[in-house]
Amino acid sequence: MSLPRLRAVLGRLTAYQATEGVHTAAARTRPLSANESPHDPLPGIAEAIADAASTVNRYPDPGCGELTRAIARRHGITDDRVVVGAGSVALLQTLMQSVGDPGTEVVYAWRSFELYPVLADLAGLRSVRVPLVDGAHDLPAMADRVTDATRLVLLCNPNNPTGTVVTGEALRTFLARTPATCLVALDEAYYEYARDPAASSGLDLCAAHPNLVVLRTFSKAYGLAGLRVGYLVGHPRVTEQLRKACLAYAVNGVAQRGAVAALGVEDQLLRRVEATVAERGRVRDALAAHGWDVPAGHANFLWLRLGDASAEFGRWCTGKGIAVRTFPGEGVRVSIGCAEDNDVFLAASAAWLTRTPAGARAVSGAVESRAAQR
Ligand SMILES: *Cc1c(COP(=O)(O)O)cnc(C)c1O
Repeated sequence: MSLPRLRAVLGRLTAYQATEGVHTAAARTRPLSANESPHDPLPGIAEAIADAASTVNRYPDPGCGELTRAIARRHGITDDRVVVGAGSVALLQTLMQSVGDPGTEVVYAWRSFELYPVLADLAGLRSVRVPLVDGAHDLPAMADRVTDATRLVLLCNPNNPTGTVVTGEALRTFLARTPATCLVALDEAYYEYARDPAASSGLDLCAAHPNLVVLRTFSKAYGLAGLRVGYLVGHPRVTEQLRKACLAYAVNGVAQRGAVAALGVEDQLLRRVEATVAERGRVRDALAAHGWDVPAGHANFLWLRLGDASAEFGRWCTGKGIAVRTFPGEGVRVSIGCAEDNDVFLAASAAWLTRTPAGARAVSGAVESRAAQR
């Protein structure tokens, strides 16, 4: 049978898959795999969404005017610096499609966000992956990899899945070394959760660096993952071009109204973030008390460096009704959920450590590596 011809790159990609069990109606799975907010939408947001539902026979505002103005006001910048997209992944796709012709390069750290290589491949960009050092971006090494062929550098701050931050000083040094003709995109999807005093947002640097764009999202701290809204802040001459590359009407009217409402109750949402940060500390302390060596995380998840035991631990969690994100051979990322789900995870991980040979080895390995560091 002859099938229609499609681009060869599609044959090499695998479809994005959410962790098993999360989107089926079966027995309740503890959703700790996608870094979502565990909280229901606040009443004001739910009402705005319900209200907007009655207008869906009409097309949305393609320019996202009201939302763009609300975001600009929130950051004290002019509207022309803001581009709204259907989730920050849509804006990442727009960036990848806009920066370079096939064969040009995008530089990013690895391991980082799983969609970077996929979007680069789809856009025909060549990926240059620079290994993390101790789970963190190696900015000097990344700067070394920027050449005439580089059109874009992606920095994920805090990094998904390792939870490390890029310090303000490292970022400024990196920008000083990067040619003004090469775009640098800072993906700050988890910025609201970062508490490291050395971390700093790229937003303050945008005015001085026309080649810098910052991506933020309503999916994590603002609790609207299901609505699909993100935005980009950059130089007006850059945003003006990027806006042309965005799919018209991609951000629906319900999402626009929901996001405006979220900005209206931001104080309450950021208090919820504070609670998640406290839970992150509690979960990490409990894991440490079990003998587990877990690095400090600056997002709404923790990174368990389990190496070869990752797949087994991931299956163990699945068996206990907990969805986590497994990176075989590397580690397991567990989101910070509601206290109850976190407790179920802590009980499952404690049981794994005591009842399985791999678990026992994971703890003794951690104890040895801590001893070696002393
Ligand atoms: C979750 C996440 C996003 C957000 O994606 P949306 O499309 O806005 O939901 C972006 N970047 C990273 C690194 C993420 O983990």
